[in-house]
Amino acid sequence: MSDSREGLLTIDLQAVGENYLSLSDHLAPGSRCGAVVKADAYGLGMAQVAPALYRHGCRDFFVATQAEGESLRKQLGGEVCIVVLTGVRAGAELECARAGLIPTLFTLQQLRDWVAICERAGVAAPCAVKVDSGMTRLGMTPEDFDLLLADRALLRAADIRLLLSHLACADEPGHPQNEIQLRNFNRAAARLRTECPQVQLSLANSSGIFLGEEYHFDVARPGSALYGVNPLPGSSNPVRPVVELSLPIVQKRHVSSAQMVGYGATQSVAAGSWLAVARGGYADGILRAQGGQGCGWACGRRLPMVGRVSMDSTTFDISALSDRERDALENIEILNREVTVDEVAGYAGTIGYEILTSLGHRYYRRYKSGAAI
Ligand SMILES: *Cc1c(COP(=O)(O)O)cnc(C)c1O
Repeated sequence: MSDSREGLLTIDLQAVGENYLSLSDHLAPGSRCGAVVKADAYGLGMAQVAPALYRHGCRDFFVATQAEGESLRKQLGGEVCIVVLTGVRAGAELECARAGLIPTLFTLQQLRDWVAICERAGVAAPCAVKVDSGMTRLGMTPEDFDLLLADRALLRAADIRLLLSHLACADEPGHPQNEIQLRNFNRAAARLRTECPQVQLSLANSSGIFLGEEYHFDVARPGSALYGVNPLPGSSNPVRPVVELSLPIVQKRHVSSAQMVGYGATQSVAAGSWLAVARGGYADGILRAQGGQGCGWACGRRLPMVGRVSMDSTTFDISALSDRERDALENIEILNREVTVDEVAGYAGTIGYEILTSLGHRYYRRYKSGAAI
């Protein structure tokens, strides 16, 4: 069994719940807040995170794969709505429908197959359709969407519950692509609703919630902001941090003459420096790209990483600590309230999402949950 000697990853489920409520509060009246729990809830553990969201009132969950959907269905039972964002595998339609999962379909052929296969088996087949409103990733092309609208028989046979689309630039509020996508989505929604008046609409991810009420529609789909990533890069973070990561120090050493540190001898430290080598490296999700730039946190201050991040260890310059502080030091934090996932992402040239989804599996994971609501 692993224990905190391998590093302690603390996941604050109370903060996840509060973030869910605060994002819900941001929504226009009549819009409800769903939650994206794909990729094991962005690496934080869907088995713990999803029930916490459920306790805070969430009933609309989005996962990436059918396997994630099936395991979520087992955890949460039949009452919640589970949408699989990357569709349905050809041949797995009936498994998907029988698990009560709503696949997001992006081609006309996929929709035809889904309807035909489920109809033949007599299985209810609610589905979601995703249109490409300008991101040019997943989504029905305008040509397929036109064909869909012209196919009255298919529209009658299909049980399309949700129309969704995804924003490419929601984290840049001034980006003209947002308005273009909004306009395209509204147009597609109006056309589909003349045929299927019941269909619900969903456009906003975390950052999309902050673009204004016209982006909210029926269901919002935040992921990252639930987990503490700032949905407003460059402005103060409206959500609470969720993760803390503390690494045990396995060696402290005094450097008596100037030395080069770590693989490739990329960085030097001056004579008289103190170094701490912590357990935890790139195999644990401490991205190697932050070597020489990242930092840890101890005794109320940032302490620079030195040299490259190794597979299992990372070295910090702790010369700034007093003798007393240094002697007492046992752990160094690399994610906390001060050193946020967004800050760390900046050192590694990436985004907070990748920091979270890279978090390793050798840490001892502690879940903090507040009082049940
Ligand atoms: C991942 C994902 C989301 C959540 O995005 P965040 O930026 O993490 O809030 C929403 N919708 C789709 C289609 C996604 O793939």
